[in-house]
Amino acid sequence: MPDTHMAAADHAVASSRTFDAIIIGAGIAGLYQLHKLRQLGLSVRAFETGSGVGGTWYWNRYPGARFDSESYTYGYSFSQDLLQEWDWTEHFSPQPETLRYLNHVADRFDLRRDIQFNSKVVAASFDEAAREWRVILENGQTWRARFLVTAIGPLSAHQMPRIPGVADFKGESYHTYMWPHEPVSFEGKRVAVIGTGATGVQVIQTIAPLCGSLTVFQRTPNWCTPLHNRKISADEQEGIKAGYPAMFELLRQTPGCYIHNTDPRGTFEVTQEEREAFWEKLYSEPGFGIWMGNFRDMLTDLEANALFSEWVANKIRQRVKDPVTAEKLIPKNHGFGTRRVPQETFYYEAYNLPHVKLVSTLETPIERITETGIQTSDAHYDLDMIIYATGFDAITGAFDRIDFRGVGGAKLSDHWADGPKTYLGLMSAGFPNLLTIVGPHNASTRCNIPRCIEQNVEWVSDLLGYAHEHGITRIDATPDAEANWSKHVEELAAGMLYSQVDSWLTGINSNVEGKNVRRILQYQGGAPQYREKCEQVAANGYEGMVLT
Ligand code: NAP
Repeated sequence: MPDTHMAAADHAVASSRTFDAIIIGAGIAGLYQLHKLRQLGLSVRAFETGSGVGGTWYWNRYPGARFDSESYTYGYSFSQDLLQEWDWTEHFSPQPETLRYLNHVADRFDLRRDIQFNSKVVAASFDEAAREWRVILENGQTWRARFLVTAIGPLSAHQMPRIPGVADFKGESYHTYMWPHEPVSFEGKRVAVIGTGATGVQVIQTIAPLCGSLTVFQRTPNWCTPLHNRKISADEQEGIKAGYPAMFELLRQTPGCYIHNTDPRGTFEVTQEEREAFWEKLYSEPGFGIWMGNFRDMLTDLEANALFSEWVANKIRQRVKDPVTAEKLIPKNHGFGTRRVPQETFYYEAYNLPHVKLVSTLETPIERITETGIQTSDAHYDLDMIIYATGFDAITGAFDRIDFRGVGGAKLSDHWADGPKTYLGLMSAGFPNLLTIVGPHNASTRCNIPRCIEQNVEWVSDLLGYAHEHGITRIDATPDAEANWSKHVEELAAGMLYSQVDSWLTGINSNVEGKNVRRILQYQGGAPQYREKCEQVAANGYEGMVLT
């Protein structure tokens, strides 16, 4: 990264005013944080890279992008009026509808007047003498605030693959996160998709019928299960609105704030017939029930996990006509649910179309991108379009891309070089007045995210309200509290099968230098336990923190 601090020194400070708080990001977290802090009477400004609100749902405009949490469990819960006036049209809302919803929220609560769009934050440093953050934008503008709240999302640092020749390709090419705002035509085109995570799966199943030919370059296959999306009927709509209080109460109690809760039975406590009937039921039902609502030992017991994985493998064999392709689509190096489960609609059937081909890059690695297509170890594929569904430098990547400097100029990326160190996933010792919503070690990165965002935002708002009321100008986590929390997070992850598998959940990214060692990035104790801990910290006068 260039020395942005030096660069910014040449520019005038954009405003002589010091805000009470600056928020980075105007996605789901940033919007609600802005609303809450304004309600407290604080002066706030949010900076957003995009030209509009929505964060994830602003950027990810790729074909087929949609929720895989039930729409009504995903919307904000803080306003009864908002809940009652908004009609979700599908059980799993498509991206354009979600973006409309977030625009509606921004208008309804008059949020735009305090958001500066097209304003990418590149650096932020703590001025110890003034007890203020200096925030520097890409255009060199500098802004100041007492508190800095990051609402930058866990999956916002999109990542191109480290494959030679990416810049050489002369056809159309898109990363799914940077999808154009204008329509893209696939008609008659020879298209390739690289990547088969949750994004790749949504793209592939959507564009397969539209392309002249589609070649999917898959490295690691994932366990995908049916979404079973459908429209919400008028009767259902009425039921959803009447049932909001009970539903949100249920979501407060489940580990990931999903509508699905773990089945209390163990896999081997029931007969084979009961087990398979239960799995059949889960496979035929919408959403993440098959992942979040499975037997209680499915994600912790290797034998239980292997049995269920084989059951799902047979579903794939039944759905994909060509047995060689079916075997390629079945994961061999990890069990079901130990990586994020993509939710699909006719994904496996796409491979039955005559013009869709699956290439395993484990068998025939991609050697380079050429001017006209993709060269693997055994063939050249001539292409008109390459779609990179290659994911993100997850959870810490968005932090690494901003030059955060704390006390004495210490770099946050250095502080986290061997894995994040945080208190509650919301603060880091030596980086006073910096609050990291949806940061690493926070329950929100393993959650039906708006539910945990609301918790994070409300906790941070209470803290900043308390500081405002009591004239507190400096808040920091103690090194001890940080060390204890980080250790606690690591211990919680130790018993989980997922932590023995490479994926973005464990911080692995082959395309990013230095991200080849598994790290514990997520709090695994469940949202209810996390919420309780946060409440306890506040009730005990913000223990583990120094407020001056
Ligand atoms: P991802 O899960 O990280 O998948 C990236 C894909 O690209 C993987 O298949 C990866 O293979 C492949 N890849 C990366 N670099 C490659 C290379 N150099 N050569 C060949 N293949 C390469 O990213 P994602 O699909 O964008 O999803 C990220 C997360 O976003 C999801 O897990 C989910 O939490 C969220 N998401 C949510 C929704 C939703 O709510 N509806 C939709 C989409 C995404 P390897 O697996 O071998 O690394």
